[in-house]
Amino acid sequence: MYDNFNRNINYLRISITDRCNLRCTYCMPEEGIKLLRHEDILSYDEIKEFTEVAVSKGVKKVRITGGEPLVRKGVVTLVGMISEITGISDLSITTNGILLKQFAHELKAAGLKRVNISLDTIDPERFKVVTRNGNITDVLEGIKAAKDAGLLPVKINCVIKKSKEEPEAIAVTRFCKENDLEIRYIRQMDLVKGHFSTVDGGIGGNCSLCNRLRLTANGKLKPCLFNNIGFDVRELGYERAIELAVGQKPECGSVNNTGAFYNIGG
Ligand code: SAM
Repeated sequence: MYDNFNRNINYLRISITDRCNLRCTYCMPEEGIKLLRHEDILSYDEIKEFTEVAVSKGVKKVRITGGEPLVRKGVVTLVGMISEITGISDLSITTNGILLKQFAHELKAAGLKRVNISLDTIDPERFKVVTRNGNITDVLEGIKAAKDAGLLPVKINCVIKKSKEEPEAIAVTRFCKENDLEIRYIRQMDLVKGHFSTVDGGIGGNCSLCNRLRLTANGKLKPCLFNNIGFDVRELGYERAIELAVGQKPECGSVNNTGAFYNIGG
């Protein structure tokens, strides 16, 4: 699928929940969040059917995200359902890694190819502060489990304030070198203020290369993270929602003051 700016749209990110077992300070408020109602969240059958249509129109790469995708019940089943779709060459998950020790081998067996794991610091105390009480040991064990399961390459998403030369980022870089992990530095963004920049080590944030569509847990198909537009796949039908999202994908991001990373998927 080509959009109006000749970009080949072949990458679908699916947020399967807005719930998370961490509360990273830059991502999710500690409390007062209005979470989605169960009936508003797409079922696994709906997600699979939508993905089949998207793949028939040219999507080749699928990433499952959230919220925290591993907190949604039956996530391994969903991975199995999506991996059965012919035409997907890359199926991955973005996770905070807390539950990965429990799920890595099952996810691999279900057809998952690889994982991106978020890790902004390797200092246990700082990790507690950044994630509002997360236990870094769970993540480190999750990383090891992902490697053991063969979910390769394991990539680390490291959110930085301004530069990868910040002390915490340097320590994460060293950890990645020592443990055969690929690292991507994501500068902390602000959707409401329209502050975004390119991801060091990936193509995210570069509008001219953007090949993505994002499906939110409640079925809004968003052609751009940094824009308010979204098309309701239940109301419009899957095919029409895809046509509209691709047809109206903005040339460049601006601001998004109706969504947040935890309910769109980052
Ligand atoms: N819970 C999963 C995780 O932690 O990876 C998946 C969802 S999370 C929203 C996806 C990615 O978005 C993570 O790598 C996270 O660091 C990133 N993210 C969240 N808020 C961000 C922000 N304000 N600026 C830049 N990246 C952000």
